[in-house]
Amino acid sequence: MYDVIIIGAGPAGISASLYAKRANRSVLVLYSGESQIEKAHLIDNYYGFKGGISGAQLYSDGIEQAKALGVEVLNEEVLNAVMNASMNYEISTKQGKYEGKTLIISTGNKRLKPDIKGVDDFEGRGISYCAICDGFFYRKKNVAVIGNEDYALSEADELEHIAGSVRIFTDGLPAPETEKYEVVTGKIKEFSGDAKLHKIELEDGTSYDVDGAFIAQGSAGGADFAKKLGIVINGNNIKTADDMSTNVPGVFACGNITGGLLQVCKAVYEGAQAGLSAVNYIKSKEKKE
Ligand SMILES: Cc1cc2nc3c(=O)[nH]c(=O)nc-3n(C[C@H](O)[C@H](O)[C@H](O)COP(=O)(O)OP(=O)(O)OC[C@H]3O[C@@H](n4cnc5c(N)ncnc54)[C@H](O)[C@@H]3O)c2cc1C
Repeated sequence: MYDVIIIGAGPAGISASLYAKRANRSVLVLYSGESQIEKAHLIDNYYGFKGGISGAQLYSDGIEQAKALGVEVLNEEVLNAVMNASMNYEISTKQGKYEGKTLIISTGNKRLKPDIKGVDDFEGRGISYCAICDGFFYRKKNVAVIGNEDYALSEADELEHIAGSVRIFTDGLPAPETEKYEVVTGKIKEFSGDAKLHKIELEDGTSYDVDGAFIAQGSAGGADFAKKLGIVINGNNIKTADDMSTNVPGVFACGNITGGLLQVCKAVYEGAQAGLSAVNYIKSKEKKE
């Protein structure tokens, strides 16, 4: 059991980890996939770096700084995050499961919406981004999962015992390693239907009848975890109070995922605040026990 689990090792997540660890708490940071900061060729507007610093350098230095302080930092993709009966957080990766008293979401704010005709038209009318939230609406129905990596397999597993059938559509990308599900590898041309989604048409002319499609391309982002946990979001951003708490007790968010100024300085500030708030939350819980 960790005091604080942090998803994301960019400026927001690492800053949160430094403050929580320096308050003598056990901290786990999980990260995988691209960080915005790695894409920045030169960061020339952040305090203290005369002549600037490359984003990739700042990213790896941050991770090393946290490790040197005793933060556990693991390169594992987070597939799912749920609250358990003890009001702690269970975080699943392909490699294992981790439990934390608090959770900080600092995944940056990538957009996972695929560029497929009809995707906007059927959002909420057959197209969903969260199996745990909406799977129940598709009891015994035929559903598709759109994606080809571990996150898609994890969403398929959520649906397996609810839906009548689950097929994975990779939209032209290589098939995932699975014998459990039928995998359709062609490029998708269009989602179609009437008031609701009924069909997925491929560019090769084949089509499949479906009642629902769950988008799970690439890896899960902060907004996906938020939806699963019942956290209020605004578009693709997680809503937080000034102390970076969300509406779900013990869950905090920081950095690009909360919107606003998409800069390192803001991510670092919010991370610090989220780390401190997570520690305060644990302290007040401990007092009550
Ligand atoms: C080209 C470019 C140039 C920029 N230039 C500047 C600049 O000059 N100055 C400036 O201040 N800002 C700049 N920025 C913005 C800055 O990089 C971001 O504001 C900052 O990186 C946000 O930090 P973050 O920690 O919120 O997110 P990110 O840096 O995006 O980090 C997100 C973290 O979450 C992890 N993650 C995501 N999903 C998962 C998952 N499912 N499981 C596990 N881990 C996951 C990623 O691996 C990563 O570690 C630039 C951005 C870009 C793209």
